[in-house]
Amino acid sequence: MKVWVKVLIGLFLGVGFGLIAQQEIAPIAMVGKIFINLLKMLVGLVIFASIVTGVCQINDPKKLGRIGVRTLFFFVWSTVIAIGVGLGAAYLIHPGQGLSLSVPATTNLQGSNLELIDFCISLVPSNPFLAFAQGNVLQIITFSLLFAYGIMLAGERGKKIYEIIESLAAALHNLTYTVMKFAPYGVFALMASSVGAMGIKVIVPLLKFLLCNYIACLFQILVVFSLILRLFLKLSPVPFFKGMKEAIALAFSTSSSSATLPVALKCAREQLGVAEDISGFVLSLGSTVNMNGAAIGLATASIFTAEIYGIQLSFLQIGVITFTSLIAAIGAAGIPGAGIVMLSVVLSAVGLPLEGIALLAGVDRIRDMISTVTNILGDGVAAVYVAKKEKHLDEEIYNYGYSNGESLSAEIGGEHHECHSSAVAQETGRVR
Ligand code: ASP
Repeated sequence: MKVWVKVLIGLFLGVGFGLIAQQEIAPIAMVGKIFINLLKMLVGLVIFASIVTGVCQINDPKKLGRIGVRTLFFFVWSTVIAIGVGLGAAYLIHPGQGLSLSVPATTNLQGSNLELIDFCISLVPSNPFLAFAQGNVLQIITFSLLFAYGIMLAGERGKKIYEIIESLAAALHNLTYTVMKFAPYGVFALMASSVGAMGIKVIVPLLKFLLCNYIACLFQILVVFSLILRLFLKLSPVPFFKGMKEAIALAFSTSSSSATLPVALKCAREQLGVAEDISGFVLSLGSTVNMNGAAIGLATASIFTAEIYGIQLSFLQIGVITFTSLIAAIGAAGIPGAGIVMLSVVLSAVGLPLEGIALLAGVDRIRDMISTVTNILGDGVAAVYVAKKEKHLDEEIYNYGYSNGESLSAEIGGEHHECHSSAVAQETGRVR
């Protein structure tokens, strides 16, 4: 049985169990807390390894230059639009209204009276080890960016440490996959404990949170991406969505942009007419750097958390949510659950209770499915955009398709896609 089916079963059984029990049952709550701890355990190192490897890859001289700048520029502005769409949907639907929880004593509400100057100073760690020990994600991000810069400056001599961090990233990705295998049980426990403790009233906000994400992601896909294709590139969006359909199905079922990468590459090359070098560069980089769906999830989750704890967000805090959601979406790995792992980055930067994660983790896999589809389609649009601007788009293939009799569907739907990150890495390495 596929993991996402098991997660759904876990979710429904958890809700049913919570309704019957009508209280939090300690051993079950323990399983949920262990699941959350496992996710939190990964955050600091995942951010560090993903940012260092991502930045060092971008700064390969061959990949920089016009195509690199154009691609990164596209990634950044499309992600900022996605965050705007997410915030818009959240302020329209108010997913967290109707639930009022008291702010946990451990919460550092510093963010609510955050001064811009203090905020800027607090971005820079005086001691990186302390930043890791305290889980101060913004400081970890700053340190990671500077460290990557140091590796680049060291040239040949920096290669060894880069390789070590690259294999650290691979190990952490695999560990995240392993942790996500535990997701059905974690989700069951989290739902059973939240529904048991809070009753049915917790269901409606969570459903509204999911609705918010599905509406925002579909808006980003159908309106924003279509407008980019139509207005900037003078292309019909229909062949784009048709050409990417195999990648869409795979992304939805695996919740992993990395696992979808080989199929997305095939779709872009064979069905959208994007040149090999451009599709290789843009899609490989995009699968870890460009995450429109994750950015939407982070923005909506932050508003949800603020609303359930009755915390009024200032203008500056919304700015911090936008900035950190962008950074967190860039730092998120293309694997299941990456978005929820990065949520602590945004919540702690704004000073919102991290306990919000426990509530959202129960439904995260359902959000992740549409999020991953949005992520890979965002990468696809970026590849078409760069190819068209560089005059490397075969519009005959884009408009009329290409059939060599091979069915991509044979590669779809297998659970092996979720676990074989080494195969994905090989494929990624090959196209690079
Ligand atoms: N799982 C997503 C991806 O692989 C990211 C997310 O969690 O939103 O693209």
